[in-house]
Amino acid sequence: MTAVKFEPEHRGVLRLKTEPYGISVLGATLRYIPCTGPCRLLVMAAIHGEEPETTFLLSRALRAYASPFKSIAFVLCANPDGVALGTRGNANGVDLNRNFPTSNWAADPVASRSVLEAPRDTLLSPGDFKGGEPEIQALVALVQKLKPSAILSMHSPIGCVDAPRQTPLVLDLQKVFRLPWVENIGYPTPGSLGTWCMEQGLECVTLELPRLALELLFERYGEPFAEFLENADIK
Ligand SMILES: [Zn+2]
Repeated sequence: MTAVKFEPEHRGVLRLKTEPYGISVLGATLRYIPCTGPCRLLVMAAIHGEEPETTFLLSRALRAYASPFKSIAFVLCANPDGVALGTRGNANGVDLNRNFPTSNWAADPVASRSVLEAPRDTLLSPGDFKGGEPEIQALVALVQKLKPSAILSMHSPIGCVDAPRQTPLVLDLQKVFRLPWVENIGYPTPGSLGTWCMEQGLECVTLELPRLALELLFERYGEPFAEFLENADIK
């Protein structure tokens, strides 16, 4: 394991360069951090705007690095409008993780919870049609361009590693985040990234961070997550 150092002079600045890959509904530039070689893993955060801690933790981990990864690309915030507006969905009220162009996409409202213990009675839209939201069109095009062999999508606050199979990537993430593996999240997710990836023959792992304040997330996971990324990079 390589020890990762968060030098005081670098803690405040993300030094990795970003490039645009699209435009959100409200006109925000969608940005990603490219890798220098063939992309093996795409790590993305905040497809749900109410989960900004995913962006925070990923950004904090990446601040240990001055130069891009060889084989890992990053999307720090897949739903910038949602984060800016403080909503789970994008500016059209669409749950972006139900808008992927999958065979099971459904026009039915998407039920979500206001907090983990609440009934799933908050209704969002899956979009007017599959793959119709600009954030999803751009993300799909990015994945098709990068051709990663796996995607790690960061969510919160369920506290598990959700993937159809317990692959080496899942086992590594379980070790780093000390979280249980679940085969599925327990309710149907038509139009989700996971289903889309499965249909593309692409591994997708959903990392659900536990319900923790931002600084506790960093204290617990900052270094191990940065080390995981460093070790997962094919040099
Ligand atoms: Zn989520």
